[in-house]
Amino acid sequence: MTRAFRIGRVFGIDIEIDYTWFIIFLIIVVGLSSGWFARYLPNVSPGVRWLIAGATTLLFFGSVLLHELSHSIVALRSGLKISGITLFLFGGVSKMTDEPRSPGVEFRMAIAGPLMSLALAAVFLTASYFVGQLPGAKVLRTMFHWLGVVNGMLAVFNLLPGFPLDGGRVLRAGLWHWMESLGDATRIAASFGQGLGVLMIVGGVFVFFTTGGFGGLWLAFIGWFLMQAAQQSYQQLVLRQALSGVPVSSVMTEEVDTLPSDITLDRVVNEYIMTHNHPAFPVSDGGQVIGLLCLPDVRSVPRESWGHVTAGEAAPPLSEHNTIAPNADAWNALVRMSAENCGRLVVLENGILRGIISRTDIMRLMRNRLELGL
Ligand SMILES: [Zn+2]
Repeated sequence: MTRAFRIGRVFGIDIEIDYTWFIIFLIIVVGLSSGWFARYLPNVSPGVRWLIAGATTLLFFGSVLLHELSHSIVALRSGLKISGITLFLFGGVSKMTDEPRSPGVEFRMAIAGPLMSLALAAVFLTASYFVGQLPGAKVLRTMFHWLGVVNGMLAVFNLLPGFPLDGGRVLRAGLWHWMESLGDATRIAASFGQGLGVLMIVGGVFVFFTTGGFGGLWLAFIGWFLMQAAQQSYQQLVLRQALSGVPVSSVMTEEVDTLPSDITLDRVVNEYIMTHNHPAFPVSDGGQVIGLLCLPDVRSVPRESWGHVTAGEAAPPLSEHNTIAPNADAWNALVRMSAENCGRLVVLENGILRGIISRTDIMRLMRNRLELGL
């Protein structure tokens, strides 16, 4: 996600905040100060109530982060790669580049988050009970009470058996163990996820029209998100299974036009991009490939400078982000491309240009395989 920025790093895991997170943060702060806190703390001035609501919302997202960290830490301990945790509109998500290798690992990873939320619910409710015995601690008691209830709800919601929710992952682990097929298990667990999403949309719309409450719309919105996520994660698995073991060299384009590094951008546009109809070219200097120039790189240079900025200056240098080895998996190429907006990678072997691979190349392979029924 390019719309996210990093706020820190815990156990080697990047913690990021997506810009949509600010929307949900505001919604919760407003909802809390005009709802829960207005009801239970009527004597507190509105200004102070806003502050308390802000602090409570931060503690809530701290809880969401602990939930995600529990998933991530179990994953790391099982030898899986976790690239980071992002807080966004719908809460938190752990970005996994690997999938669990066995039903047992999947089960432990999935259950860790809800268990953490349940533990937090118990801690906050107990704290609210004991703080409640002290005089003048009404604010803290109210905060802890809400946090306890909400963490409990978070655990219950995430345990619903629809993939890719945690409960859906638990279901998939069970099916995987029982049916011995990750594909079949994912298909069934994902259809539960889609069904659950549809139920939430229908229920949410019904609640909205009968009570006019905003909560109904929100439920429908989350249902829609769940439905999409279920569908995507199944398609991703199908794609992954089809592309695993297919080497980049069998999909790549070998005939590649390279740009001399000293050519100016207006010539690149007129003589290469417009005539060759390719959106990306490797840049070479003295027979050595030094970078990959893509349309977005050209666009990021102001048009009036195209006459003197060269391809070598505008192209990002070769790195692990825009190159891949010919014997690498086509799936890995796709994962690497999705992190960049170029949609192409330079295929390099010991520093020598072997070809270029694009998303289109991979999609063409998929289409051919589907048509041949492979
Ligand atoms: Zn979770």
